[in-house]
Amino acid sequence: MDLHKITLVADWLQASESTVILTGAGMSTESGIPDFRSREGWWKKINPMTVSTVDALENEYELFHGFYSLRLTDLKTYHPHKGHHFLAEWENQGFVKGIVTQNVDGFHQEAGNKSVHELHGSLRSIFCSDCGQASDEGAFLNQDTCSECGGHHLRPDIILFGEILPQEVWGKAIRLIEESDLLIVIGSSLQVSPANELPFLTNGKKVIINNEATLLSEQFDLQLEGKAGDILEAIDEKRKGGEIHDDIENTKRRT
Ligand code: NAD
Ligand code: ZN
Repeated sequence: MDLHKITLVADWLQASESTVILTGAGMSTESGIPDFRSREGWWKKINPMTVSTVDALENEYELFHGFYSLRLTDLKTYHPHKGHHFLAEWENQGFVKGIVTQNVDGFHQEAGNKSVHELHGSLRSIFCSDCGQASDEGAFLNQDTCSECGGHHLRPDIILFGEILPQEVWGKAIRLIEESDLLIVIGSSLQVSPANELPFLTNGKKVIINNEATLLSEQFDLQLEGKAGDILEAIDEKRKGGEIHDDIENTKRRT
């Protein structure tokens, strides 16, 4: 690990007035959930274009239901890892303004983050695709009919290929990033548009933490290559070391 770079990011984090974190699937692989595009990812096993679609929901419900039942039951056996917990601590201590995430697993909230903007929705909330009535995980897993309209197509509240992105969440995420003075991307291949345009809306510094270089990494002020959990832990250690000398300034900033 490049200690010089770790120290720089820790210093930037301490000095920042408005840090925003943008996470992708690589943030959750250390919890056990595969990402989409690296060697072990979902896309090597199953093509999400065949299941994560409006067409599958409407015409291939068995396939759709099977895939998302698996992803939902998987979630029960996986938990946020140390990296998620550092991000929650940073937000709770006033060092992070908010999380913008492409993930649908809800781990940031489970770890304790409060300002979380889910660009692609959440696996954890379920509704009826016929009438919009809210439902729950148990009903979805059992393939129950909708209690309101009797419809047979309960679904998770995630954005499927072919659906419009949630405008309100996107609006908030864009404003948050535009107002940030430090933006840290964690675990994203930055191949999914328009999410991969978000880092470039900040006028502040841009950092990317990923275990491989991405096509856009060169456009960041600083790149840290490695596992998200380990790198966040190293930044946290440096940050806490720095706090001893920086106490008055930090107390002022958090009040
Ligand atoms: P992606 O799969 O395209 O890219 C993930 C990146 O993270 C890769 O570059 C990979 O090398 C890196 N990575 C993997 N493990 C890492 C680790 N431990 N530390 C650091 N980097 C690591 O993911 P994306 O850019 O988020 O786009 C995928 C799309 O799939 C998103 O739209 C997202 O909604 C969805 N998705 C979500 C989940 C989830 O909720 N956990 C999982 C898979 C896919
Ligand atoms: Zn219904």
